[in-house]
Amino acid sequence: MNTFEQFEKNESDIRSYCRSFPVIFKQARGAELITREGKHYIDFLAGAGTLNYGHNNPVLKKALIQYLEDDGLTHGLDMYSEAKEHFLETFKRVILQPRGLDKYKVQFSGPTGANAVEAALKLARKVTGRSNVISFTNGFHGCTIGALAATGNGHHRGAAGVPLTDISRMPYANYFGDKVNTISMMDKMLSDPSSGIDKPAAVIVEVVQGEGGLNTASAEWMRKLEKLCRKHEMLLIVDDIQAGCGRTGTFFSFEEMGIKPDIITLSKSLSGFGLPFAIVVMRNELDQWKPGEHNGTFRGNNHAFVTAATAIEHFWSDDSFAKSVQAKGQRIREGMQKIVRKHGPDSLYVKGRGMMIGINCPDGDIAAAICKEAFANGLVIETSGNHSQVVKCLCPLTITEEQIDKALKILDAAFAKVMAEQVANQAS
Ligand SMILES: *Cc1c(COP(=O)(O)O)cnc(C)c1O
Repeated sequence: MNTFEQFEKNESDIRSYCRSFPVIFKQARGAELITREGKHYIDFLAGAGTLNYGHNNPVLKKALIQYLEDDGLTHGLDMYSEAKEHFLETFKRVILQPRGLDKYKVQFSGPTGANAVEAALKLARKVTGRSNVISFTNGFHGCTIGALAATGNGHHRGAAGVPLTDISRMPYANYFGDKVNTISMMDKMLSDPSSGIDKPAAVIVEVVQGEGGLNTASAEWMRKLEKLCRKHEMLLIVDDIQAGCGRTGTFFSFEEMGIKPDIITLSKSLSGFGLPFAIVVMRNELDQWKPGEHNGTFRGNNHAFVTAATAIEHFWSDDSFAKSVQAKGQRIREGMQKIVRKHGPDSLYVKGRGMMIGINCPDGDIAAAICKEAFANGLVIETSGNHSQVVKCLCPLTITEEQIDKALKILDAAFAKVMAEQVANQAS
């Protein structure tokens, strides 16, 4: 009898991450996953960036247990609850106001990232009366139809079953290398009444493309994109679902770039505890919704309100956490650069920003082999990118330096083994 019989027999073939990590996990603590047999793994995937504060963060766990003990509301539709009031107050005071975003409102969408993106796209179309939206090559925004239309990934798009419409795809920053200015290219196309690009309602963009392979937009590119949006009267939507909540070293991925998006989507690590939770943050004047227009049953995950408010208060009340993330990001970068220099200075390179960082391999097979070898040695790590060629670190931001060094050692050995096999294969 196969150990995974329950899953393989009874769960849909849609299963994906479990195929890379064929063990049964039972517990998780901080940056560690623990199997049923008690084997420990360092987690460089962290729920695809959902567990920025680590598994079962004790501060968040305590707040949630206290709330449960007090019979606090679990589900509340979108009724007023004390937990939601506390989240709104905390998010405004600790996150929005210090960043000059006080004239913004929060919409509670359905609890997934894709639902926040759907809401953001709907709102932009509603406010502007236009249907077209610009999204970028290698962008990832979710798998529901509206969000999927904005997503580039061919594997996901292939499952849509209907035409994916009302999106114009444009080249992301440096898509054609650093010599081609993709902003002036867009400007020219948007200025030409016969370019065939319908006037867009909005541009949706990731400042660091998470699933698309850690492609980064510079502050300059983002500022120019904001200007382009103003010039052509398009709303700027920053999808900060993966890059936000501290991943790049600041709460928002864009906050040191001097831009102010019209709409921001947040999810993944927003609850901080792995609880489903998503919001759309919009300029006050864009809040043109009629009551219940983008409705949803699970817009009142009060447990997520509790852990999110606690996480924001605990980690973001001063800049010490941000500083530690920046320092750890630098430590990982240096470790990865060392791996590149040792095992493939001509074929490997480091990509990404902050603690959203990885090593680009020559192809997806090599990256997969490296992740497989790393897993055999106690490290959970996945790939991303248009050819799944980027070995990507998305570890909890609370990981210890010791754990980082241990993980880098495992990665170093995996690169050594797989890159040596490459050389041997080429020679034979
Ligand atoms: C994960 C992700 C989404 C989709 O979130 P789901 O919760 O999987 O629907 C959207 N945008 C970005 C940038 C993401 O990384």
